[in-house]
Amino acid sequence: MGIHLTTTILDGKAVAEQVLKGCADRVGQIKARSGVTPCLAAVLVGDDPASVTYVRMKGKRCESVGMRSLTVELPGLTTTEQLVERIGKLSEDPAVHGILLQHPVPRTVDERAAFEAIAPHKDVDGVTIHSFGAVSFGLPGFGSCTPAGIMRLLRAYEVEIAGKHAVVIGRSPILGKPMAMMLLAADATVTVCHSKTRDLADVVRLADIVVAAVGRPRFVQGDWVRRGAVVVDAGYNPGNVGDVDFDAAATRASMITPVPGGVGPMTIATLLDQTSIAAARQLNLTDLE
Ligand code: NAP
Repeated sequence: MGIHLTTTILDGKAVAEQVLKGCADRVGQIKARSGVTPCLAAVLVGDDPASVTYVRMKGKRCESVGMRSLTVELPGLTTTEQLVERIGKLSEDPAVHGILLQHPVPRTVDERAAFEAIAPHKDVDGVTIHSFGAVSFGLPGFGSCTPAGIMRLLRAYEVEIAGKHAVVIGRSPILGKPMAMMLLAADATVTVCHSKTRDLADVVRLADIVVAAVGRPRFVQGDWVRRGAVVVDAGYNPGNVGDVDFDAAATRASMITPVPGGVGPMTIATLLDQTSIAAARQLNLTDLE
């Protein structure tokens, strides 16, 4: 097997570096003109090791582009009311420009209620109903970072989207659903698949663009991929394994994202970029957006 000679690997790491460079430039200008350092607050409930690692990584990345990172650590037994109150305070704090609630939160917490406590203008992770609605209606708002990062990656490689058939596997509120809306806004014909979809392989075989957002290792098989299709693997499973059988899919795809180094770096870069844009807006430096 092996990668087809004409298969392009969509290098999310390289594109993310470019995004981060633009973000660092914007942060520098914001600081120079307002004296304010943009700040991203990350809220972490409990001590799930993967979440602790993510939040630490995001904090380091924040600082690498010149932004301030604030981590709010709350105990695993925090109630919904306490979390909503804490996030509400961050929403009102003028020194905080973006808020990220690390998810999943413990099962005892109402995650949706906690997300909705994030003020829309600080929802740089694009998780609120307001942000989803705004993006779906083509109005100003922050896109959910993973699908927004995927759109950016596709655009960086000049992937034609208009008129293409895009199949999104997964319909979660932060990934599959906003992905479908963004592809629709870019004039794709979109099919959204989920766990009740019948004959999934046959549906995927019709796709010009496939986005796998399932959460199951190597779920999408090589022979589901139409020759020449663009394959985006949003999956991130233990052991750095994606939702697509990469080796098999790469022999048929025209373009494909690797795991790691594809969608993941774009997600973080989009989060930081949106934080810097949120700061520019809040400081009335809209020409820096
Ligand atoms: P999720 O909330 O668990 O949603 C998974 C979706 O896949 C659901 O809509 C589910 O359908 C669907 N699904 C499950 N089994 C299926 C099957 N057999 N056939 C068809 N569809 C099926 O997961 P998520 O948060 O969207 O994340 C998906 C993946 O992306 C995970 O691997 C996650 O780690 C990764 N991820 C990566 C990033 C990144 O930055 N790279 C960010 C977020 C997530 P139902 O709705 O019917 O249950």
